[in-house]
Amino acid sequence: MKGIGHWRGNRLTAAASLLLGAMIGLLSVSAFRGMWEPDPVFPSPWLTRKAMLADYHPALKNTPGDTEVFVFEGGEPGGSLLVTGGVHANEAAGFMAALLLVENLKVEKGKVVVIPRANASAFTHSEPQEGSPQRYGIEVPGGVRSFRLGARLTNPVHQWPDPSLFRTPAGQIVAGAEARNLNRCFPGRPRGSLTEQVAWGILEVIRQEGIGLGIDLHESSPEYPVINAIVFHEKAAEMAAVAQMDLQFEGLDFRLEASPRNLRGLSHREWGDHGGIRALLLETPNPVQGRLKGRPTPELVVTGRDPFYLKAAGLGRLFIPYDTAGAPLSWRVARHLAAVEAILASLEEVEPDLAVAWSGLPEWRAVVEQGVGAFLRPGTGGGPRTDGGGGVAGQAGGGARRPPQPGRP
Ligand SMILES: [Zn+2]
Repeated sequence: MKGIGHWRGNRLTAAASLLLGAMIGLLSVSAFRGMWEPDPVFPSPWLTRKAMLADYHPALKNTPGDTEVFVFEGGEPGGSLLVTGGVHANEAAGFMAALLLVENLKVEKGKVVVIPRANASAFTHSEPQEGSPQRYGIEVPGGVRSFRLGARLTNPVHQWPDPSLFRTPAGQIVAGAEARNLNRCFPGRPRGSLTEQVAWGILEVIRQEGIGLGIDLHESSPEYPVINAIVFHEKAAEMAAVAQMDLQFEGLDFRLEASPRNLRGLSHREWGDHGGIRALLLETPNPVQGRLKGRPTPELVVTGRDPFYLKAAGLGRLFIPYDTAGAPLSWRVARHLAAVEAILASLEEVEPDLAVAWSGLPEWRAVVEQGVGAFLRPGTGGGPRTDGGGGVAGQAGGGARRPPQPGRP
């Protein structure tokens, strides 16, 4: 009897193996390149113009740092607001809240500029060594839309190698990998690294669009102290305080955090210092990016329900209330939306000349109750995409829909 060791191939088997290898290679290339395609965005019919970041900083043209800039202008003159999501592409609620604006917004007074994928390169890869899902699904009317979950930093394929230590454009020395952290690269450098150029491009948007108020949407780990928070530049202190009180009346607890003057390179710090605007950063709690989580699944992105976080909450280790309902994406998006609305209301109170008014957006409670997907465009529709290890979680609330509770909306 012949064993496998005695098996001899011939030209035909050699050709077949080569062909098989080539096919596997081609399939991997297309799957890999598929990660570089941005998910489609379907702006509301009241969009005034869609630009690219390269229109403000031309060096970004045809680079992976270029990204869409959506501009909405109202009939009445007023102030101008910039909202960014996706400065950290693994913080799904920041991106999703910005997307909700783009797909629903109608500006009545002033101007609103939204950049949902501020660090576009960070959306083209996943958090390394975390087993992170590449995609998650949101039920929308008539189907499921699939979204990429990106990473905190710029893709190393696009910016490499990291220095051992990084001197930020604002002059602080930090760990080398932070060279790819957009939220350490403000105010950017016009001829710097890709991440620094993206930061510069966003400052150019602030300058060229005459922005007066900037809000940067983030998330953080439930065990991180700056959470459920409004972090404010001192120029926006009064506005932030008024907004926090309004939110408290709505049953939404937000901490107020003054931005430390010596922590440099962050959006709100440098937008305020270099862009001269009022600037704030919002944080919601995101279990999938925390250190205590169990298996990171597409469902965890959407439901925010994790047994290990539940245990940590029982031991008093978290900075947020956390129960069996988890921290659903819809609830986190609703918090961002409520906070942005409250900040706009306080702008109207504090600086009426700079006010911005809009319509078309759902009330934050409706986002909690019906799920964020109810307010997204059906898009291309179609069934769930299961490529790239992603999957589809249930309705945006993950079955955890419930009436808002004080301090725990
Ligand atoms: Zn962040």
